[in-house]
Amino acid sequence: PGIFALANHHFSVATESSWKHRTSLRVPNLIGGSFVDSQSSEFVDVINPATQEVVSQIPLTTDKEFKSAVSAAKEAFPSWKNTPITTRQRVMLKFQELIRKNMDKLAFNVTTEQGKTLKDAQGDVFRGLEVVEHACGMATLQMGEYVSNVSNGIDTYSLREPLGVCAGICPFNFPAMIPLWMFPVAATCGNTFILKPSEKDPGASMMLAELAMEAGLPDGVLNIVHGTHDVVNAICDDDDIRAISFVGSNTAGMHIYSRASAKGKRVQSNMGAKNHGVVMTDANIDSTINALVAAGFGAAGQRCMALSTVVFVGDSKPWEEKLLERAKTLKVSAGTEPDADLGPVISKQAKERVCRLVQSGVDSGAKLLLDGRDIVVPGYEKGNFVGPTILSGVTPDMECYKEEIFGPVLLCMQANSLDEAINIVNQNKYGNGAAIFTTSGVAARKFQTEIESGQIGINVPIPVPLPFFSFTGSKASFTGDLNFYGKAGVQFYTQIKTVTQQWKDLSGGSGVSLAMPTSQ
Ligand code: NAD
Repeated sequence: PGIFALANHHFSVATESSWKHRTSLRVPNLIGGSFVDSQSSEFVDVINPATQEVVSQIPLTTDKEFKSAVSAAKEAFPSWKNTPITTRQRVMLKFQELIRKNMDKLAFNVTTEQGKTLKDAQGDVFRGLEVVEHACGMATLQMGEYVSNVSNGIDTYSLREPLGVCAGICPFNFPAMIPLWMFPVAATCGNTFILKPSEKDPGASMMLAELAMEAGLPDGVLNIVHGTHDVVNAICDDDDIRAISFVGSNTAGMHIYSRASAKGKRVQSNMGAKNHGVVMTDANIDSTINALVAAGFGAAGQRCMALSTVVFVGDSKPWEEKLLERAKTLKVSAGTEPDADLGPVISKQAKERVCRLVQSGVDSGAKLLLDGRDIVVPGYEKGNFVGPTILSGVTPDMECYKEEIFGPVLLCMQANSLDEAINIVNQNKYGNGAAIFTTSGVAARKFQTEIESGQIGINVPIPVPLPFFSFTGSKASFTGDLNFYGKAGVQFYTQIKTVTQQWKDLSGGSGVSLAMPTSQ
C-alpha cells in the first residue's frame, strides 16, 4: 500500500498542511488550500466492503465550515478567472502527469474503499484522467464566436465566461472518475469549485485534490466538504453557488434538481439506469457472451452503464446455457486479490437490497439460473459479497426489472422480434445506455434510430463515450440540459456574453434616432 492508503492511518496533527501525514482516521475538509479538521461532533465511517474494517471517518461538515469553503471559493474566483487560459491549461497538463505517476496509489485507495478489483480501479482513474487530458485543450473548447460588420462599422462577438463558484456531488461507484468529470472542466473554464465526495469513498477525491494543488491549482479554486444530506442541501440553497453537477440515484438527483433550480442554479443530474443488451440470433456467440458477462458482472454490477438486462430475440435457451457456463467461472474475492474478477458490493444494505430484489424476481415467477446470494469468500467472510446471479424468464411487470438492482445480477428476457425488443427497452423508465449484438447492419441501424437511450452500443456493451463527446442519458437517467464533459460540459460551466462594438469615423454625426436600432 502506498502512503495514501487510508487504511494505514496516515493522518497526523491537526495543523499539518498535508492530510496524508496525519495519524487520525478523520478525513479533513479542504478549505482555501488547507486541509482543515472539522469541528463537527458527528462522523460517518468509511468501511472497506471486503473486510468491514473502518478505513477512515468523514465529518458531517458544520454549516460554518461549509460557508467558509464557499467564501474561499468566492474569494479565489476573480484572480483565477483572470489567470490566462494557457496557465490554467498548464495546471491540467501537470495534473494529468501527476495522476499517471500516482495511478497505483489512487487505484489501491479506490479498491480499499469501494471494493472493485485493482485493474478495474485503474480503469476508474484512467477514464477520469482522460477528462483531465481533454481539459488541457480548453482554450480551443472555450472559444467564442465573431461576426464582422453586423452593421456598418459594427461587429459582434461572444465570449464564454466562467460562472463563478460551482459545486459537484458524487456517487460511490466511481470515486476517481466522477470527481474528474467535474472539477477539471469547471476549473479550467475559470470557475472555482466545491466538491462533495461520496461519504462512502472520499479518499480518491482527497488524493486528487492534493495532486491538483501540487500541479499548481491555486488555494481556494478547489475546496472539499464532506457530509451527507445536510451539506448537499446547503449546496442547493447557497446563493453564491451558481451551478451543481450531480451523479447518483434518482431520489437524490431529483431532490437536488428541484431544490437547486428553485434557487436559480444550473443543474446537470445524471441518475439511475437499467441498461439493456439486445441479442440477435446472428450475433457472434463467443464475443457476445463475453461482453454480457463482463458488462453484467464487472465492478459487481455497480456501474451506471452495467448491462443489467439481456433481451434475447428468438430462443433464449442456448444463449442462457452458455451465459451460465461462463458466469460460473468468475472468481469473486476482495479487489486486492490478483485473480479476482469481481469484488464486494458497497455495503451491507446494498447486499440486502440486491438479495431482496432477486427474491422478488423468484417470487414473481422468474427462474434463478445462478444464485450468488449465499456466497462465502474464504479469508473475507465478513465482506458484502454477492456472486454472479442470473434470473431468466423475467417480464416487465416484475419489481426486479422495474427497479435498479445495482449488483452482479443479470436479468434475461425474451422477445419474438427486434420490434418487440425495442419496445421493451423503450417502455423502461430509464434511458442511460442500450446495446445491440448483431452482424446485421440493418438491425443495428434500426436499433440506433428507434432506441430512446442516451448511449447506444453496437457490439459494444458499455458505450461510455470519451471526453471529446459527452456522457449523456435520456428519460429518468438524466435531467437538466447540458451533459457532462465534451462540448456540453464546457457550455455547462460557462455563460455567454455578447459584445457589440462600433469603430467608425463618427466625426460627421448622424443625428439622434429614437427608433429601435436595425442593421444598416
Ligand atoms: P446516492 O444518490 O445515494 O448518492 C449520491 C450523492 O448524493 C452522495 O454524495 C450522497 O451523499 C448524496 N445523497 C444521497 N441521498 C441524498 C438525499 N436524499 N439528499 C441529499 N443528498 C443525498 O447514489 P450512490 O448510491 O452513491 O450511487 C449509485 C447511483 O448512482 C445509482 O443509481 C447509479 O445508477 C447512479 N450513477 C449514475 C451515473 C450516470 O452517469 N448516470 C453514474 C454513476 C452512478
